Amino acid sequence: MIKDFNGTIICASKYFSPDQLKIIYQKGYHDFGENRVQMMLEKIEALSDLDITWHFIGHLQSNKVKDIINHIDYLHTLDRLSVAKEIQKYRTGKIKCLIQLNLTEEPQKSGIYIDKLDQFLLEIKKYDKIELVGFMTMGKDQDEVETEEAFKKMYQLSVKYHLPLLSMGMTEDYHLAIKHHATHLRIGRKFYELLD
Ligand SMILES: *Cc1c(COP(=O)(O)O)cnc(C)c1O
Repeated sequence: MIKDFNGTIICASKYFSPDQLKIIYQKGYHDFGENRVQMMLEKIEALSDLDITWHFIGHLQSNKVKDIINHIDYLHTLDRLSVAKEIQKYRTGKIKCLIQLNLTEEPQKSGIYIDKLDQFLLEIKKYDKIELVGFMTMGKDQDEVETEEAFKKMYQLSVKYHLPLLSMGMTEDYHLAIKHHATHLRIGRKFYELLD
């Protein structure tokens, strides 16, 4: 489906029913990412007999952390101390986290702005349940130039801070993400090709 990529393809499972996800799993995709807590809990339950790595990729409200945090392998959207505090309180053991960055500086989007990153990294060190492993970002809709700038920037930050995982690239812009060293693509609608 996607060639010339050696990293992890996460199926953004919000579009698919558990039965469709079983087919996707059987075709060799074992990493799934959900956006919503309730939906994710239902799918984890429905697919509990499969060996899936679960990524939470949506906006996470701090009051929902306790419901989901012990059911997932990766949190891609850490961007607030209120969420970090709840993780510290409710997670049993460490959880691999990626910091979500708002590199296109769109106010309607989640994520840390780059000028706040040093401060955030400093504060997050207090929480030993959080194992920082990388960064996550979204491209800018309909804007390849800005999207590529953002992906390039995120790679530079990953080198600078020694945080190796780069979660970037979706159906429309994964080719740019691969070019800029993405390690994790989050692919949704393109999986319909596999189900045809
Ligand atoms: C839905 C979603 C994706 C995948 O979207 P497509 O454009 O369908 O590939 C990736 N990341 C996040 C955070 C999403 O919500």
